[in-house]
Amino acid sequence: MTNPKFVSKVRLASLMAVVVLVISTLSLPVVAGVFEQVNAEAASGRITVHPLRGGVTELEGSGGNITVLTGSDGKFMVEAGIALSKKPIQNALDTLGAGSVKYVVNTHWHWDHSDGDAWLHEAGALVIATPNTAKHLAQASRVTNWNHTFPPVTKDGMPTILLTAAKTYNFDGDNIVVTPLAPSHTDGDISVYFTKEDVLATGDTFWNGFYPYIDYEHGGKINGTISAVDSYLVNITDHTLIVPGHGAVGNKAQLKAFRDMLVGIRDRVAMLKAQGKTLDQVVASKPTAPFDAQWGGFIVKPDLFAKIVYLSL
Ligand SMILES: [Zn+2]
Repeated sequence: MTNPKFVSKVRLASLMAVVVLVISTLSLPVVAGVFEQVNAEAASGRITVHPLRGGVTELEGSGGNITVLTGSDGKFMVEAGIALSKKPIQNALDTLGAGSVKYVVNTHWHWDHSDGDAWLHEAGALVIATPNTAKHLAQASRVTNWNHTFPPVTKDGMPTILLTAAKTYNFDGDNIVVTPLAPSHTDGDISVYFTKEDVLATGDTFWNGFYPYIDYEHGGKINGTISAVDSYLVNITDHTLIVPGHGAVGNKAQLKAFRDMLVGIRDRVAMLKAQGKTLDQVVASKPTAPFDAQWGGFIVKPDLFAKIVYLSL
């Protein structure tokens, strides 16, 4: 007969092992910056699969959120994830159905959305992006705030379809609308709308619950980001599911709250800038303060967001 006390000791021991594992994971390398932090998270190999609606699923855990439609035509993917997640992403894709990935959209050039292009391309996918995304991928591109210079990608990692106007893909009985945007998060963003399932993938023009990065060194604009969000708000309803670049899958009310935060901070920073205040003076005046408790808890901290808004105006 099993001794219940023994069982509970065994359970306690395994629970402690889990606790130790989590702690050791959390205290792994001291991360030097955003690049290292996001890669370390991807290196853990944890990809969470969130079924959304119909054949549309979100994969979370390899940089930017990935959206994928699976059906009899194969798979249509938005975002390629980080290359070192190839195996766990492939495993997650396999659980969705047998078909291969036919298309991958890069919503913009940042590595946490495009780094997996090469392996997906080698596996047979066509990679869709804007000409500006291809331009940034083809050359060494530095993001000063991340203290990182991204080398040019290999030929296999380059997008194969360059869009300058919206295009609708008829795929698995769905109409997938792929729309290049005016400069917003970068100068080469794309949004993707799955019509049948009413799911919108925004790339990094929307971070649900967090201050977003805006890449002003590669054409990103606070005003363009607000315009992109406004264009989504007129086209979606309370039924629409929104996959942001970062953060949990959201709805129209959350996107509207994000828009109001952007406008509130933009207005404060624009007023100070118009008064002739320098970047340092504006950052020191804490223009984001009323919003920090709600929005400042991720990788873009309040001072950095104030700086981004100032420099992208
Ligand atoms: Zn980005």
